Amino acid sequence: MKQVLFIFIYTMRYKKRNRWKSGKEKLKYRVWRINVFALNFRKLGLSRWYVCEKCNVKRKTTRIYHAHHIKSWHKFPEERYDKLNAVVLCKICHNKFHKKYGYKAITDPELIYEYLK
Ligand SMILES: [Zn+2]
Repeated sequence: MKQVLFIFIYTMRYKKRNRWKSGKEKLKYRVWRINVFALNFRKLGLSRWYVCEKCNVKRKTTRIYHAHHIKSWHKFPEERYDKLNAVVLCKICHNKFHKKYGYKAITDPELIYEYLK
């Protein structure tokens, strides 16, 4: 019985963690990310660089960057795939942001603006 319960909990967690990575959601997410980076690309006018909106580090590929949801994926499902609901950050700045604000980063969209100042 204990084992059954364990498997049940494990499956629930697994599904929860991966729900957005399946099928349609995954495709929508990819399109969203491409659009976000397309906007970021144009920020510097004629140049061919992507840029972190916090530390301004520039690269020619998106590899070191994350597309951060201003209004979190969890709390604002209607705006999940709005390309304007995003900030491009390098992985380092993105991790720092979430470390600094913790759970509040999910519930309060204003924090990212405070962080970018
Ligand atoms: Zn950065």
